[in-house]
Order: sequence, then C-alpha cells, then structure tokens
Amino acid sequence: MVIRALAVLGGAGLLIAVLLLVASVKLAVKVDEREAAVRAVLPGANCGACGFPGCDGYAAAVASGSAELNKCSVGGANVARSIGEIMGQEAGAVEPKVAVLICRGGKDVAPARFQYKGAADCRAAALLLGGPKACVYGCVGLGHCARICPFGAITMGGNNLPVIDEKKCTGCGNCVRGCPKNTLLLVRRSKLVILACVSHDKGRAVKDVCKVGCTACGLCVKVCPAGALTMVSNLPVMDFAKCIDCGICVHKCPTRSFIDRAPGRPKAVINPKCDGCQACVKACPFKAIEGEAGSQHKVAADKCIGCGECRKVCPAGAIDLVGALGHSHRGPGG
Ligand code: SF4
Ligand code: SF4
Repeated sequence: MVIRALAVLGGAGLLIAVLLLVASVKLAVKVDEREAAVRAVLPGANCGACGFPGCDGYAAAVASGSAELNKCSVGGANVARSIGEIMGQEAGAVEPKVAVLICRGGKDVAPARFQYKGAADCRAAALLLGGPKACVYGCVGLGHCARICPFGAITMGGNNLPVIDEKKCTGCGNCVRGCPKNTLLLVRRSKLVILACVSHDKGRAVKDVCKVGCTACGLCVKVCPAGALTMVSNLPVMDFAKCIDCGICVHKCPTRSFIDRAPGRPKAVINPKCDGCQACVKACPFKAIEGEAGSQHKVAADKCIGCGECRKVCPAGAIDLVGALGHSHRGPGG
C-alpha cells in the first residue's frame, strides 16, 4: 500500500518536473544581451530625459533599434560612446544641456495679487486663478521644480525664484516638464543669451505687474545684428540658430528682460594699426569708441560690452577683443 502511494507520488512529481521543463523552454522570454549591456552602462537616474520610461525603457528601445544612441543627457558623451560600442554603431554627439529659469519676476519686482493659503505646491496654486502672482504668466515660486529635480540642482532663492546650480544640473528636463507655468527651458550649455520672460501682455499691462517683464517694445528686434529676434504675440522669439550671443539685446532692453549666462565678456581694444577711419565709431551700438578722424581711436571700457560689431567693420584689423571669461573662444563678431 505504502509502496503504491510512493510510486504514484513519484510519478506525479516526475510528470510535473517534465512539464515545467518543457514550459521553461517553450515560454522562455528571450533576453537581448545587448539590452542588458546597454542598461548596465546607463546611469540609473530614471529621469526620463531620453523620452522613455526610465533607463530600462531606454535600454530596451536602443536594443530594439527604435531609439537613437545619444539620448541620455545625464550620462553624456561617455555613456553614448559605450552604447555605440555595444551596438556597433556611431552614437553621434551629445549636446550638453542645462535648465534655465525664463522668468525674472521675484517677489521684489513682481507682487502678488492675493494671499494664497492652499497646498504649498506650484501646480495647486496655478489652478487657482492662475496663481497668486499678479503676473499670471510668471513663476509661481512654490518650489515644485526644486522638489522634483532628481539631482538636487534647484533651491529656492530669497525672492521666491528657483536658483539652478549649473554644476549639478544634468539637463534631464524633469523640472521643465513639471513646471505648470513653462518658466523653465532646456538650452545648450553653450547658449548665453536668453529672453527671461514668458508674458504675452504688453506695455502698461506688464509694467503694472512686473518691473522686469518684457513690455514688447520691440527694441531688441531692431538692434539685433543677426536678425535673430521676431516679435510673436508680444514676445521676442529668438532663433537660436541665428543668434550670435553678442549680448546687444541684453544691454539695450529697457526692462532688462534678457539674461546673459556668459561669466564675463571681452572688451574691444584698438591697436596702433587704427588709421582713424571712424567706421567703428558708427558701428558701435553703445557709443563706446571715441577719437578724432585720422588718429588712433580709443574704447571706453565701461561702455563696451564686447559685442564685436566694431571689429567686424574695421578695415585695418586694428581691433582685438581681449579679457573674456568664457566667451572669447567663440570670437563674438567674428
Ligand atoms: S544676443 Fe545678439 S544676436 Fe542674439 S538675439 Fe541678442 S542681439 Fe540678436
Ligand atoms: S565690442 Fe566694439 S562695438 Fe561692441 S560695444 Fe565694444 S566697442 Fe562697441
């Protein structure tokens, strides 16, 4: 009796083992070794900068051939190169990016129109009549971006505006996607001049609610030597491909609505090759060059912004741009 029972149990066990073996072979999920290898070189930030649901999603998309190899901004060029080696393809360049706040309306210059006492979150506040700020376009200032930045790159400043630590920012774009007011923008790290206002109002309507808002006066459009600015719906829209980052708009804007990320700019210096033709005097948008016709000219360093317009027109090659911190390598003005 006992032997029969043991035999039945043994037989059933053997049958189940065989079935499991067959099932494991038939139903096995094929693991793409390249997917695992790509996943292993990704940084694991799961930030979504690549446009896929986390690093796992991006690795799967790369392995299946449906994603470009250079989309991980957190990993940058090194990770792209590693992925290229795994996939046996050229990864292409990774343009490092950084998030920039495109609103300068802190509480010192952009007052509130009512006291908000709801949940301390920008998205909740923005749902209530567009938020407490009198300028309904501007940064709400309740720090949602700072809370969702996976890299701790954003802190809230004393005037209720986010402060972005560019050394920590990886350009993942989480803050940009999370901002209910679209007051954060991802730009190439090499981009220097950016309009920091998103208001579509103009004139008095802007001045009443923010001292540094763009009033749509159009001066920047007129002075831009590269034709990079166009007024659209009361805001100058910048064509980044045309902009030469000269900074003229920054300095001409009466409301200081542009920001200049250059840590320093060069100054024009005129050398003895100058024959005093005065072409530079006419070209300088800031009246920074003085001198008698026929004699060597001089640049007033306190007026020069280093835009290089003078150097472009000098027929004698007598103008150098010197002393830049972070800009001279780009050779503004040629
Ligand atoms: S930085 Fe110079 S080129 Fe760029 S938009 Fe301003 S004025 Fe035009
Ligand atoms: S670089 Fe030349 S044109 Fe530009 S502000 Fe200086 S002096 Fe004027």
